[in-house]
Amino acid sequence: MTNPEKTLLALLLSASIAACDNYTNETEEPVETEEPNEPADPEEPAEPEEPIEEENDFLTDSEGREFSYLPAGDLLPNSGPGHSDTTIYRPDIIFPLEDAAFLNSQVYRYGGSQGSVNGMEGGQCNAANYDYPWQDTFCESRSRSQIMCPDGGHEGVDIRAATCIPSSGETHWAVAAENGRIVGLDGSKYTVKLQTEDGTLYRYMHLDMSQLAVVDGESVVKGQRIGKVWNDFFNSSGESVPTTYHLHFEMYQNYAPDEETDPVFDQVSPYMTLVNAYERKLRGE
Ligand SMILES: [Zn+2]
Repeated sequence: MTNPEKTLLALLLSASIAACDNYTNETEEPVETEEPNEPADPEEPAEPEEPIEEENDFLTDSEGREFSYLPAGDLLPNSGPGHSDTTIYRPDIIFPLEDAAFLNSQVYRYGGSQGSVNGMEGGQCNAANYDYPWQDTFCESRSRSQIMCPDGGHEGVDIRAATCIPSSGETHWAVAAENGRIVGLDGSKYTVKLQTEDGTLYRYMHLDMSQLAVVDGESVVKGQRIGKVWNDFFNSSGESVPTTYHLHFEMYQNYAPDEETDPVFDQVSPYMTLVNAYERKLRGE
């Protein structure tokens, strides 16, 4: 590969151009084969390829769609190593978008620069991008250093709003996941940071930075509106390069792989924390 090609590839990978797709049309539900004479087999192997369904109560969103999600670390084929972290780091947060939301890849699905890798050529508003199941994108391939991701990777997860904004024209608000304070906003081009009293840090990216609902240093309460889901992004040269319409969401914690290792303050996978928060949201809790 020539140097210009490498540069182009690096730009493509780093630009987070959303690519959405249809991959998740297969939401086939497992048939329940409960028979009165045969006790349920607790050893029945899980099928990791199937979306995880809610056990008894099917959770549905405001449009009546049944919520499901793929396991943590189960990324689209050829989109990166992923990181199978099932930890719910913050069990009390509010889901960071007010409305329904869809976690999935912005780069490797319809509308993304790498959509063709999995046969997902098309625009970001493809209906399949706005459907369940959710899919993890933590440690998706990126040219970024991340200690959780071998060879670097995507340091957060990408969340589509309830509707595809360029076609719907609707407004979808991102909200404070917890009580905290807006920090480091001055001069920030596409990132809003929210820090809690105990140090947990959230990063919200690609909001409409010209119409934020918060100012630097502002104390916010859980659920308070921060900004509108948008597509603001700038490349490493400082040029405006709009991404897909989505919220990139990161969560920093003190993390140590074991007790002997000193913890580092870094991005951890927010995937299962968000699954937990969304389930509580759908239950109306
Ligand atoms: Zn992202």
